[in-house]
Amino acid sequence: MRKAFSAICDLCGSGNIRPLYNFKFSKVARCLNCNLIFTNPQTTEEEMKRIFSSKELCNKLFPELKNYDECFEKEKSSVARTYNQILKEIETYKKKGRLLDIGCGRGEFLDRARKKGWEVYGLDFSQPSAHYAKKHFGIEVLVSNFEKANFNENFFDVVTMWDYLEHTKKPSLILEKAAKSIKKDGILVVASPNLDSLLEITAKFIYRISFGKVEMPLAKQYPFTHHYHFTLETLAKYLEKCGFKIIKVIKENTHLERLNLTFLNKLVLAFIFRLSKLSARQNRMIIFAQKN
Ligand SMILES: [Zn+2]
Repeated sequence: MRKAFSAICDLCGSGNIRPLYNFKFSKVARCLNCNLIFTNPQTTEEEMKRIFSSKELCNKLFPELKNYDECFEKEKSSVARTYNQILKEIETYKKKGRLLDIGCGRGEFLDRARKKGWEVYGLDFSQPSAHYAKKHFGIEVLVSNFEKANFNENFFDVVTMWDYLEHTKKPSLILEKAAKSIKKDGILVVASPNLDSLLEITAKFIYRISFGKVEMPLAKQYPFTHHYHFTLETLAKYLEKCGFKIIKVIKENTHLERLNLTFLNKLVLAFIFRLSKLSARQNRMIIFAQKN
């Protein structure tokens, strides 16, 4: 099912690639030149589409994410708070204008942005998600891959990518294209899992002391649907290479209320997340970058 093995690093072009983990469902490699970590070989596009267009299959593969999207609907949910916080932060750099959300899913972020006066544009490869956005919010979402989409150059004031970049085949192509579509001094916001987290360190510790026998906690940090596993260091290198300068970084933990876990698992995670916050090693990062 999986192919597209890469012997060249997408970030630095080096061929100095070494295997890092060989999990049951995926293999992970690292570039020894720039430290980029990526799933190799990548899951094919057909396989990704098959997984993400079937709720049943998604639930089977990732039972902890079963209710992940439901809390979008609650006005006081942690997701709504994050969206409001990010919009407020964006507005410290750009007051209003055109905002494109790439991989916009069902359009919840766009809906919030539009209510605050932004002229919104959305793109997603999922037809059901686009249908939801149209039906619930009246937002037209372009169903396409960003690589194939046609946008004018220097058109957008702000581009956002919520949990999108790590799913793409070549982040360098995506970021270069995004840079072209953004006006000079425009803002790019990239939200992604942060591999340099206490959760990953804890999972790695369990993996090592069990001599690789207990791989599930660590393998969860490297889902095969993510082609890339960024740290702040590697994502910053990408952004700088593609014409951006970083202006702000916000870290956060996965919102516990979105996870479908046993009470005990939630308790353990809550404890790790508390320590993560104290040590600034949360498992998610939201990076604000400005086009040079
Ligand atoms: Zn590299």
